[in-house]
Amino acid sequence: MKVAIIGTGYVGLPTGVGLAELGNQVTCIDREPRKIEALKAGKITLFEEGLEELFHKNIKAGRICFTTSMKEGVETADLVIIAVGTPPHPITKEADMKYIHAAATELAEYLQGYTVIATKDAVPVGTGDDIEQLISKKNPTAEFDVVSLPEFLREGFAVHDFFHPDRIVVGANTQRAKEVIAELYKPFKGKTNMLFVKRRSSETIKYASNAFLAIKIHYINEMANFCEKTGADVYEVAQGMGLDSRIGPKFLNPGPGYGGSCFPKDTNAMAFMGRVNGVELSLIETAIKGNAVRKKEMAKRVLDSVVNQKTPKIAVLGLAFKGGTDDCRESPAMEILGEILAVPGPRVTVYDPKAMENAKALLGDKVQYAQDAYEAARGADVVVILTEWNQFKKLDLAKLATVMHHKRMVDLRNTFRTQDATAAGFEYVGVGK
Ligand code: NAD
Repeated sequence: MKVAIIGTGYVGLPTGVGLAELGNQVTCIDREPRKIEALKAGKITLFEEGLEELFHKNIKAGRICFTTSMKEGVETADLVIIAVGTPPHPITKEADMKYIHAAATELAEYLQGYTVIATKDAVPVGTGDDIEQLISKKNPTAEFDVVSLPEFLREGFAVHDFFHPDRIVVGANTQRAKEVIAELYKPFKGKTNMLFVKRRSSETIKYASNAFLAIKIHYINEMANFCEKTGADVYEVAQGMGLDSRIGPKFLNPGPGYGGSCFPKDTNAMAFMGRVNGVELSLIETAIKGNAVRKKEMAKRVLDSVVNQKTPKIAVLGLAFKGGTDDCRESPAMEILGEILAVPGPRVTVYDPKAMENAKALLGDKVQYAQDAYEAARGADVVVILTEWNQFKKLDLAKLATVMHHKRMVDLRNTFRTQDATAAGFEYVGVGK
């Protein structure tokens, strides 16, 4: 199948590479010439485990190409996938649809023959109808259907999740469009759950899923607070809860609050839709508020650990919003750093295995940058772990303690067991224990 993907970000690029690997002819379109030039030159523009290898393999096989030209990608395509981003509106926090609307309007004039247009973005309910109208207005003779094809991949596991999805949800209102999408996902037939639903249901499923996961994180963070007051251990509590198959063990890790490019924006967008439709979505509203408070509380936990020092040195390990990605968008680490840097006194040195470049664009010269965790910790009064990178689990705690001025650790990801950290000489503070 000939597929055009509009947007080569954290969703568009892995999807394009994955579809090429399945044998489709893929054209990736992005309006940022810098990205397209890099991709054309064989340089990958984001970090995802396993992506680079597949990217080179499919370029070599001639199954994937890159362009800034909408015409080039769209006019021959059987399927056009939109993955351009729906960031929160700066004032209302609803999903800002300017990129989707621009992409739909731009692509309209190049449609030739019957084409399916699919949205991969999380989009407000009714977006499919809006796209139909925009395209028909610009190109009244275009023959097309719009489907909702929500993406559920996890950043950091995008390649794995592309080839092993939990489910594929297709929101299509016509049989013809359903058949095109069924053909695209033929390699997954019998291997995963394929759910064909109404387009509006599909649009809702994406938001309802992300909001549910955000609520689950908020819930376990509240349980962590409760355990800290009562002497229980939230890990044991989560383990006991997770063994109930109705609850499940995932998303029961307490931490500094949820972040990233999806949960904050999608919970806010859903809450906005609830308000607009006069429907009370109180659990989502509570999770949003609680998550904002959580980051302030965690920043206070860090500052409390050095409360008696005028100019403490704080070493921060982890900047990405979670392990396995270089993405710092809405990262709890960034928000907690913001709170710390707003207070006079602390000098901060940071290290992240993959996110240093993205972090530099946000933090500039407000912090020092280290080459590794030990360099960050040198002379520090406290080391703070903000992202759950696997490589932090492998740190030599005794070596880390040796290079520090005061041996203190605030481990907001519960990377270490209390007894291991204290055995290495640390005054240790974790979460929920
Ligand atoms: P991103 O910001 O990384 O990428 C969007 C890309 O689209 C950018 O490269 C931008 O230049 C390009 N673009 C914007 N408008 C364009 C236009 N008119 N023409 C051509 N290119 C255009 O975004 P992302 O993280 O890939 O997310 C995309 C969507 O996928 C989001 O709306 C999100 O809801 C959904 N999603 C994201 C994830 C995730 O883990 N990031 C997971 C599931 C779903």
